[in-house]
Amino acid sequence: MVERPDPQGVPAGLRPGEPEALHLLLVEDDEVDRMAFERFVRTHGLPYTYSVAGSLGEARSLLVEEDFDVVLTDVHLGDGDGLEILALGLGIPVIVITGAGREAVAVEAMRAGAYDYLSKDTERRYLELLQVTVEKARRVSISARQERLLTEALRSINDAVFITDPEGRLSYVNDTFRRAYGFADGEILGQPSSNLWAEEADHELLPAPPELLPREGESGECWHRRRDGSVFAALLSRAPIDDAHGRRVASVGAVHDITDRKRAEEQLMHAALHDALTGLPNRILFMDRLENALARARRKEESGGFGVVFLDLDRFKTLNDSLGHQAGDCLLQAIAERLSGCLRGGDTVARLGGDEFAILVDELEDVRGVHDVARRIHRSLEAPFEIEGHECFTSASLGIALSTHGYERAEDVLRDADIAMYRAKSAGRTRHVVFRPDMHLQAMAALHLENDLRRAVEREEFRLRYQPLVDLASGGLLGFEALVRWQHPERGLLTPGDFLPAAQETGLSAAIGWWVLGAACRQLRLWRDRSPALRNLSIHVNLDASQLSSVELPERIDTVLEETGVGAEGLCLEITEDMIIEDPKRVARVLGILRETGIRLHVDDFGTGYSSLGQLRRLPVDALKIDRSFVSRMTARSGDLEIVRTIVQLGRNLGLEVVAEGIERPDQLSRLRQLGCGHGQGFLFGQPKSAPEVDDWLHPGVPVFSGFEDADGGGGGDSGSEAHR
Ligand code: C2E
Ligand code: CA
Ligand code: CA
Repeated sequence: MVERPDPQGVPAGLRPGEPEALHLLLVEDDEVDRMAFERFVRTHGLPYTYSVAGSLGEARSLLVEEDFDVVLTDVHLGDGDGLEILALGLGIPVIVITGAGREAVAVEAMRAGAYDYLSKDTERRYLELLQVTVEKARRVSISARQERLLTEALRSINDAVFITDPEGRLSYVNDTFRRAYGFADGEILGQPSSNLWAEEADHELLPAPPELLPREGESGECWHRRRDGSVFAALLSRAPIDDAHGRRVASVGAVHDITDRKRAEEQLMHAALHDALTGLPNRILFMDRLENALARARRKEESGGFGVVFLDLDRFKTLNDSLGHQAGDCLLQAIAERLSGCLRGGDTVARLGGDEFAILVDELEDVRGVHDVARRIHRSLEAPFEIEGHECFTSASLGIALSTHGYERAEDVLRDADIAMYRAKSAGRTRHVVFRPDMHLQAMAALHLENDLRRAVEREEFRLRYQPLVDLASGGLLGFEALVRWQHPERGLLTPGDFLPAAQETGLSAAIGWWVLGAACRQLRLWRDRSPALRNLSIHVNLDASQLSSVELPERIDTVLEETGVGAEGLCLEITEDMIIEDPKRVARVLGILRETGIRLHVDDFGTGYSSLGQLRRLPVDALKIDRSFVSRMTARSGDLEIVRTIVQLGRNLGLEVVAEGIERPDQLSRLRQLGCGHGQGFLFGQPKSAPEVDDWLHPGVPVFSGFEDADGGGGGDSGSEAHR
């Protein structure tokens, strides 16, 4: 009868069907006993494979070469004591075979860790007992084998695995764990597993306070700390291990390092919510923060609330076009940096696109605090930017919307800040304006204005007015300044202040400028042709910043002069100081080209900008036009008189003509003559007139102005008023 070992206790899945053969080592120096064993196994068909060692030495080498499930060893061997095998700590059952009646040896063997013992009574009884004992050991040997398998699996697995006792102290860690955490067994075993958590919440990635850690039987993400203090993102799975009675005996945890994945996720998240050029939050993130601020403001009405600043750079387009997009990008980055420097911790500055930024000033004690932020922003942009070797100046127009208006939606807040920003722009830039509800209507009007302007450019609804320029020494007429007007179909005749800022913002001003240049030159040609006395008249044309930065400028002017037959000496271009400071070197180069052709160049509104003396000296210009504001405030006691005196002096030193604008009264005229100012313009000599009006005015002959009799500037009384012939 073939005995079938009881497969009970062998884990399912390891060995389906027949019980797996046990691999035995028989250590026996007695030839007869060995043969009896082999015969017994064979005749009973026992599920054993075996190797036989005839000596202790042979046993030792076989144990190294092969994996055995059970060892059977005789006590007395030729070369030593079979009990020595026990001392090897093999982790598998060792059954000791003693001579009959040697109970003392058996006890010693059991004490030394033998699984069981057998005594060689009669051969038959001994062999049957041997089978029973080996089968009894099967379970132990199988679990020993499995343990080796599991240990090997745990060792080679890529996750850090640890086991804790019911008190949460670490009782086992695998190799990956040791490598990942950098601990040696002695340092970590017995320690509470909670020592592994990194508790700081300063990780944006994975803010996991300990109470959010995964519970038994769950998995979750948390921060773990290595021995060297460094921290990594861990995906931790935990499972309880209970005994047959449901008592918790241990808990196993597996940790997977997910720092790379987390970082990639974070990068994606960051890219979706930030502006690639400046690294600032983008519109999406800004609106999200704004929603939060709105919700907070609604919850606690007693708090001061928040403000939103909408910022748009002044003249960025001009700069971008003239210096190139790369330089434009550099400038935007530098601006982003300065803006960030203006804020407090909880505030958000975002780039909405192009040259538009938005700032959320949150948790204000008093909404008036937004004004301070606005002032800080203006100041931070004052210093020049060094971009690709150029010194660039920029400024911004700011619109502010305050939470005190009781907004419901974030879009509305931003829209109103935008409207206020446009207000700041049209009020002359470099300022901030706080939104008021009535601005909404005006914003609608601005939108109409823009549409109307586009149409006006197509239909040429623009007109010119001409204002005389006079030689202050002789009173002779020098020429006219062409000033643009818009004949609006519904609103009537509009002056530049009504539409030029909008035209500049929408990029329409260049088209208007080119039209003005052509029309003015054509008109000059007509006057010049009329009488020899008018042959030397010149026309002054104001140049728009967008024209000055256009590479086609010299060519287009050439074409106009050619088409109208006006010589270059008949044309004088006026450029304002602020157009120079944006990029002095480039402007100097362009002006140099123009001047070479014989065109004259005047610096308009002189004294209101920031151009330095050094820049001025390098500029190829012919005249400085003193700004009207200085002339109008020029009285004996005011500082403005000194300014005018200084500009006249400056012009003389640099060899430049000086033109005074806005001369309205005879006393202003005589003072300017005294100071030695060469040319002048103003209502005293004539308002800007239409071409037919000028025709009438010129009809009897070229007017000569009175008030110039006394060349020392002593002209008094009502002299100086406009007079004919
Ligand atoms: P601007 O170049 O300084 O032109 C002189 C302005 O002062 C004109 O205003 C003129 O009407 C006004 N003005 C002249 N004499 C007197 C005076 O005695 N008293 C007072 N109170 N004002 C006087 P306007 O025509 O409204 O033009 C305003 C500005 O618009 C001009 O200042 C110029 O910067 C700009 N502008 C006018 N036409 C054009 C143009 O065709 N192209 C460009 N780019 N800008 C233009
Ligand atoms: Ca002018
Ligand atoms: Ca001017």
